[in-house]
Amino acid sequence: MRIFDPHIHMTSRTTDDYERMAAAGVRAVVEPASWLGQPRTSVDTFVDYFDSLIGWEPFRADRFGVRHHATVALNPKEANDPRCRPVLDLLPRYLDKDGVVAVGEIGYDSMTLAEDAAFAGQLALAVAHDLPALVHTPHRDKARGVARTLAVVAESGIAPGRVLVDHLNEVTVELVRDTGCWLGFSIYPETKMSPPRMVELLRAYGTERMLVNSAADWGRSDPLLTRATGEAMLLAGFTEDDVDRVLWRNPVEFYGQSGRLDLADLGGPGG
Ligand SMILES: [Zn+2]
Repeated sequence: MRIFDPHIHMTSRTTDDYERMAAAGVRAVVEPASWLGQPRTSVDTFVDYFDSLIGWEPFRADRFGVRHHATVALNPKEANDPRCRPVLDLLPRYLDKDGVVAVGEIGYDSMTLAEDAAFAGQLALAVAHDLPALVHTPHRDKARGVARTLAVVAESGIAPGRVLVDHLNEVTVELVRDTGCWLGFSIYPETKMSPPRMVELLRAYGTERMLVNSAADWGRSDPLLTRATGEAMLLAGFTEDDVDRVLWRNPVEFYGQSGRLDLADLGGPGG
């Protein structure tokens, strides 16, 4: 089973995780720029963070045979902090870098006016730089958050096929299914989606434009839940080809739209 985790925060994970992921079949990851928990007080700390996402972390991943790409953005939570907002001016420089395969994660946390502005502005950056966009949806008030997210995406003029709407569940999947956007599902150990629930969604909605990620970060999370989902699919009667589509070919197709996905020398067909 070859696995591409399209959303994981390796900065917060250990080398043990890289080892276990590689052993489980994870050959490629995308790490979206996100909130680190501790509030950042100046733009300079984002410079170091972005440099780490395109420099140190790919180097670290490579030592375990995992290919690492990144997405870069001002995350929704910190879009509310006036000290962080100048990060928007910093982004064009990073969106030109080879290892950056999308703008993200952008979107809503608390659905404030400041988040509105940062979200729309960064969708415009995605269009200007000809990059896909990774869109985080809020964990509270989810349905309203997703509806508003889709309205802003439609208004931006970005092609829906270049947008991944992430952290969906049984309630919000319906809202996104017919928009032409890609659908992301984060599989967590306790809350939100689990492998069995994900299998039910794949049964109901098929495998097209469906992405599964661990979204593992500094909180309770598990980088091997992509693999667990693939195994749950096989047990439920999906074919190896179905699993390969969801866990490998779909993320390759989505991020491949950047023209920057480099999966050379990873071995195996198509990868
Ligand atoms: Zn994330």
